[in-house]
Amino acid sequence: MNEHHAALLQHAPHSQSSADTWARLCCEQALLAVEQGCYGVGAVLITESQELLFSTRNQVFVDGHYNSAAHAEMLLLDQLEAEYPEQNRSKLTLYVSLQPCMMCYGRILIAGIINVRYLAKDKPGGFNGKHLPAAWAELAARTSIRQATVEPYWINLAEQAISRLQDRQVMRQRVIQAWRGSLQT
Ligand SMILES: [Zn+2]
Repeated sequence: MNEHHAALLQHAPHSQSSADTWARLCCEQALLAVEQGCYGVGAVLITESQELLFSTRNQVFVDGHYNSAAHAEMLLLDQLEAEYPEQNRSKLTLYVSLQPCMMCYGRILIAGIINVRYLAKDKPGGFNGKHLPAAWAELAARTSIRQATVEPYWINLAEQAISRLQDRQVMRQRVIQAWRGSLQT
């Protein structure tokens, strides 16, 4: 991790709660994603007994091509389904540094996760769960997706990871290049 990013983690207030610890890990993953030229979003999956199962980060540009599905939450759920089939989904909590998008919101519902806590709100891109088709609305009704109660430092850092710490214009250009089939890596 580069020095500037490491300092942002080091200068943080001490964790007051386990939620702060998970927020820190989400932010750490988000910063690593930024360093890889991906969107600054990180996620962790936590068991009922407050143990970390594993963490992921956005990886949309790491393989030398654009992987539109490689959002942190999607990778987290891929890994859960592949490696932890015995875990009871209803007992897990997914923490993510940014409010889930429409794709991830849907995936969370059909993956059977019912507790999601995000750090930064995503006004332009976060999905609010409204106006869903009936079957999806039924799944959404049993699911709690809301902002985490954590030290404001982490909410602020999660916001920075997706905004000031990376050039959104450059990211946008790379996506457009990929859509056109001309992404340079
Ligand atoms: Zn997403």
